[in-house]
Amino acid sequence: MKNKLAVVALGGNALLRGDQIGTIDEQEENTMLTLENLIFLINEGYNLVITHGNGPQVGNILMRNDAGEQMYNIAQMPVDICVADSQGGIGYMIERMFRNVLNRHGINKNVICIVTQVVVDGNDKAFSDPQKRIGKIYTKDEADRMHEKKGWQFREEVKVEGGFRRVVPSPVPVDIMNIPIIRDLAMQGNIVIAAGGGGVPVYFDEKKDVRPAEVVIDKDLASSLLASMIGADEFYILTDVPYIYINYKKPDEEIKEFLNYEDTLKYLNEGHFAKGSMAPKIEACLNFIKNGGKMSVITEAFKLADKKYGSKITMEYEK
Ligand code: ADP
Ligand code: MG
Repeated sequence: MKNKLAVVALGGNALLRGDQIGTIDEQEENTMLTLENLIFLINEGYNLVITHGNGPQVGNILMRNDAGEQMYNIAQMPVDICVADSQGGIGYMIERMFRNVLNRHGINKNVICIVTQVVVDGNDKAFSDPQKRIGKIYTKDEADRMHEKKGWQFREEVKVEGGFRRVVPSPVPVDIMNIPIIRDLAMQGNIVIAAGGGGVPVYFDEKKDVRPAEVVIDKDLASSLLASMIGADEFYILTDVPYIYINYKKPDEEIKEFLNYEDTLKYLNEGHFAKGSMAPKIEACLNFIKNGGKMSVITEAFKLADKKYGSKITMEYEK
């Protein structure tokens, strides 16, 4: 029998919890605990591709960039380079932690991280409406100066009075580089880490040259595209809630454990899933099913091994 192929997307909390400052010890500990939960998939014979978020990490890279420029006149690097840096750093960390977890379980597998470019459409409508907030909080004066100097766009920060954040577009991913290599490596039994942070954003110009895009790509949408393109059977999104809910945080809140495509789409359109957090995950799960994937699962990173948790989306209801 052919081994099943699963893509597992590690969300924010899987690597770094909101109440932590982000030391390497904290990140390694969280990563290790998360990866421990993937052992049962390996024991069930799954081949694995891991994707991951990079929100806090790339945020820190952008701030270091900014501080470096202020203090030492070091040239700032564009967003694509920052994402590539974060893929390398986080990917390496996941790789090393995974090797140690595998070793403890007596499993012998290669783990490899691939710095992955994800292609967006240069004409995506997101380019005319940048929404994604990145980097540090600036004062109005600083923001004006950066706008003048670099053409960056800013929006008022909701959480900090008088604060401004840089905003960049978040176009949808349309293609991923090196798909056959990612698929082959995974099907040979290697654990592949790819498309971290939604991927290094690039687009093709008129001459078909690859160009960097100053954007960030949603990691759930990129992970789902990757899962579809490599022909994965199952797609797991690990985040900080054990289930998805309708009427979330309202008195009539309801856990949804088994969902079909049609009902999930209806709940999405009814606004049950918050924009920027759960909505893109649901969209990602639905895209995967629509493109022929068998099952999408959303659950807490630390609950995966315990199969009684998690919301499972399939084309038709399936228990
Ligand atoms: P990650 O960092 O793992 O990508 P996000 O913070 O972006 O995760 O998204 C997960 C969050 O989505 C949860 O912490 C939860 O508060 C929020 N959320 C919004 N709507 C829902 C819903 N209907 N059901 C479950 N969680 C929801
Ligand atoms: Mg989060």
